Amino acid sequence: MSLHSVRVRFAPSPTGPLHLGGIRTALYNYLFAKKHGGTFVLRIEDTDRKRFVENSESYILEALKWCQIEPDEGVGYGGSYSPYFQSKRGDIYHMYINKLLKRGYAYYAFDTNQDIDKKRKEYNHRGLTFSYNSRIRMKLNNSLTMTKEQLHDKLRSCSYVIRFKIEPGEKLKMHDIIRGNIIVNTDHLDDKILLKSDGGATYHLANTIDDYLMKITHVIRGEEWLPSMSLHVLLYRALGWTPPNFAHLPLILKNNGKGKISKRNTNSLNSPIYPIQWEIPKTKIILPGYRELGYFPEAFVNMLALLGWNPGGEREIFSLQELINLFSLEKITKSGVYFDIKKANWFNKKYLNEKKKEIFAFLSKKIKTHSISCKTDYLWKVIHLTMNRIHFIHEIWEHSFYFFISPSSYEANFFNKICHENTILQLKNAKILLYNMNQFTSVNLRFLFQTIKNKHQIMQLFRLAVVGILKGIDIFIIFEILGKEESIRRIEKLINQIKEKI
Ligand code: GLU
Repeated sequence: MSLHSVRVRFAPSPTGPLHLGGIRTALYNYLFAKKHGGTFVLRIEDTDRKRFVENSESYILEALKWCQIEPDEGVGYGGSYSPYFQSKRGDIYHMYINKLLKRGYAYYAFDTNQDIDKKRKEYNHRGLTFSYNSRIRMKLNNSLTMTKEQLHDKLRSCSYVIRFKIEPGEKLKMHDIIRGNIIVNTDHLDDKILLKSDGGATYHLANTIDDYLMKITHVIRGEEWLPSMSLHVLLYRALGWTPPNFAHLPLILKNNGKGKISKRNTNSLNSPIYPIQWEIPKTKIILPGYRELGYFPEAFVNMLALLGWNPGGEREIFSLQELINLFSLEKITKSGVYFDIKKANWFNKKYLNEKKKEIFAFLSKKIKTHSISCKTDYLWKVIHLTMNRIHFIHEIWEHSFYFFISPSSYEANFFNKICHENTILQLKNAKILLYNMNQFTSVNLRFLFQTIKNKHQIMQLFRLAVVGILKGIDIFIIFEILGKEESIRRIEKLINQIKEKI
């Protein structure tokens, strides 16, 4: 097939926010389309109105926008294959279901849910599994087991579903770009419902028809749909169509080894699973996404792209354009991939290194809110000294505040321990040493204090005095940046606080 006419689709159901797996499916579709100069379509599969969750659609659009992987066509973008909402395509599905009925590929089934439940229990009782399939359908209440007249009457008086009639005894050969050749024995397939009793098409029917009518060339979707592939291929055949190419993506697994990531386990996974925040409609609880937590969309997308695909080699940092150029479905892994939030943070940090201006802007704003003004040079110096400690822009403040504000309180545990006369004496002596220095540089300071008695304790006292907590960068560098006066002022402040306490 010529790849010029590549058309792929992302076909989410509006049942809530997208999780990592969903947005990765969108990304791979996007990368594949762009790589081949094709078209990326967004179709909303809203046939199951019972599972509909408000705001899902706008969420999906916004999430794709944030990731910078916007569709070329479809919901929100228009195109010549509209409507792109399945709920608006009912007539089309009816036309094709009639074709299937006429050709004998589908049949009416009148069994109620209770009938089926009863059968299921009977079978279970005999140690068998019930399945509406070629072996059992001739014993059930459907158009295959009644006369034309009976059917006519039934159709007027009873509710029904339409099922696909699977012919047994075939070894169906299929191909998946990621998984290779697959053979399924049709004996093991059941007659899936195509049209529900409310007249609505099921996912299988709508999805197949739409992929064909929208001229989709490659179906790239999650592994959970692999078991449906045989039904879809048989549906294409029954309708006289050539199936598209299929590629089923590996699952994304939690790195605690406890199964796959899904919308249902937001809380058990101690890391975000949504690209952007989601407000639960009923409770109004807001679950933050990667965007709100400070991840850059480029970093998020880069991380996601490598979650199941790898162009080969050691390199891990790729721009979106590079991902497009390198992308190929063949290099997607077959087995599930583990998601590790630490890796996501690592990616963010890599991208953070290119965001110095943004860090500068953030820090300038922050010090303004504290009514502090300082020189540009000073700000840059602080950023360069602290930025290797952060993964997100907003973290810069907690790692640099002590360059702008003198501590107003001290880490209680340590402070309580050192509250005695001896500490005051130590600090006073150290202060004299600092005071008498000519060049107040970190090199000189290090030299001066290198041989001093109780060096470790003094260093900790210094840190408490200038930072307030036992954290921060090299203490001598902090001294140098703060300057002699400010450093001594902070030491005096600590001395006074200790005096007050004892
Ligand atoms: N509507 C399905 C979903 O939300 C799409 C499956 C497919 O891509 O065929 O997962």
